[in-house]
This record gives sequence, structure tokens and C-alpha cells, in this order.
Amino acid sequence: MNNLKDVIDQAGKKGVAVGHFNISDSVALKAIFEAAQELRVPVIIGTSEGEAKFLGRNMASAMVKRLRVDNDFPIFLNSDHTHSMDEVRDAVSAGYDAIIFDASKLPFEENIKQTKLAVEYIRSKSKDILIEGEIGFIGSSSQVLTAIPSGIAISPESLTKPEDAARFVKETGVDLLAPAVGNLHGIVMAPDANGVLRSINPRLDIKRIGELKNAVNVPLVLHGGSGIADDDFRSAIGSGISIVHINTEIRLAWKNKLEESLKKNRDEVAPYKILEPSLEGIRSVVKARLQLFNKLI
Ligand SMILES: [Zn+2]
Repeated sequence: MNNLKDVIDQAGKKGVAVGHFNISDSVALKAIFEAAQELRVPVIIGTSEGEAKFLGRNMASAMVKRLRVDNDFPIFLNSDHTHSMDEVRDAVSAGYDAIIFDASKLPFEENIKQTKLAVEYIRSKSKDILIEGEIGFIGSSSQVLTAIPSGIAISPESLTKPEDAARFVKETGVDLLAPAVGNLHGIVMAPDANGVLRSINPRLDIKRIGELKNAVNVPLVLHGGSGIADDDFRSAIGSGISIVHINTEIRLAWKNKLEESLKKNRDEVAPYKILEPSLEGIRSVVKARLQLFNKLI
């Protein structure tokens, strides 16, 4: 079976993107795996530091590996937004396939310095782990927001510059790069003229994605995919995005379906019955996203 690097390279060549979806539990993992298996497309499972703490890195790693080996299926595990060296060490020892070292909140020079140290450490432990670095702060909450948080890079002058991207990749030695191209973490919702809540996430700067792709020789990763318009996804993937992260949409599906389920069956106590609608809800969100990212629709 292909390793994660091959899977990402092949996606780039085909002009499609690999979907990256976060989990806090085995319900979401099962739903994501089933959607990917149905469509026969590779998939990356992510755990943030909070998600990893709740689920346990060893448990996440054991489950994903078992699914990969038993089904001979390209499913991989990524340590999403890992901020400290302690967390990096935990992810390495748990056997993660990829690690995002995120020092994007720090000034650019400091980001380069810290990321380089993380890359050196990870490479000293394993040559197989893919390492992603980030430039440009795009927020840190996978929640439903009512306004764009302050300090986030969305104005044209604050987007990642091609020369910075080139320098960052060259000096740190990362395998993957997450730039700021108008994306942000979370879904920003506001009422439209009819009072219906709609996503008002900013548009992606497609031209900048193409410029960044030309400036670096590593695959580009789009974070904060929840709430982005389908056409923006198509253009972004066509311009060089090889991995797309979705988290908030999964959280929403999990929560909304759970609320409905609890309301509908007030006397039910069996978790597997109560959680079945959440599983189905996540599966359908992930399936639709994978179809879009893999040009199946
Ligand atoms: Zn992210």
C-alpha cells in the first residue's frame, strides 16, 4: 500500500485533494472511514491537542492503524496543530503518520526557528513522519463564530507572501506547508436578509494559492475548510491545494444530530442507538466533502 507521502503526491498529480477530518471519538472515526471506503479515496484523520487528550494518542493511533492494515486501506493519522515539543514527542511515540508543528502565532523569524527545531527532532526519531509547518495566523477555534476574530490574516497584505513561503520551506525543511490564503478556522455565521443564518466565511485568494504553489516545492494544505464555498474549493484544489482540513462541519453534524436524537427518544439510554444519527450525519458531511475534493461530483 502507498504511504502518506505517495498518496499526497498522487493527489497533486491528479489535481485532487486528500480530505483531512478531525475526530474526538470512535463515532466520527467510523463515519469518516466508512465514507472514504465507500468512495475508495484516501483519507487523513486529525486530532488537535484537545481532541488527542480526550481520546488518547495511543488509542487514536491504534484504531487508525488497525483500520489501515486490516482493510488494506489508505487511512492515516495526523497530529493537528501541535504547539509544544512535549506534544510532538507524544505524537511521535504514539506512531502518528504526520505532525503539524504550528508556531504560526509567533513572529515569522521565531516561527522558522521553532519549526526547524521540531523538524530536526522528528527526523531524528523517524524518517517516515511527514511534517507540516504554518505561516500566517488563521485563528484557533473550530467553532461557529459570529464575527471574524481579530488578528487573523485575511486582508490582502497579511496573506502569506510567496517569498516568505519559499524561505520558510527552505530553512525549516518541512514536507508540507499551510499558508494563510483567506481561510480561517471555524465557521462564521450571520443572518441574511430573511434572518436565516448563513456562512459568511471570506473568499479564498485563488491567485495567491497559485503563486505560492509556484514558489515552493512542497504540497500546500488548506486549513479552516468548513464554511468555504464549493467553487472556491474547486479553484483552490486546481491551483495547488493537496490537502483540505474540515473540522467544524463534523462537530456541527455530531451535535445537531445528537440533540435531535435525544429529543426524539427521551427514554433511550443505549449509546449506540442515541449516537446512530450522529454517525450518519458525519458520514454524509464527509462523503459530500470527499466527493468534491476528489472531483467525483
Ligand atoms: Zn487547522
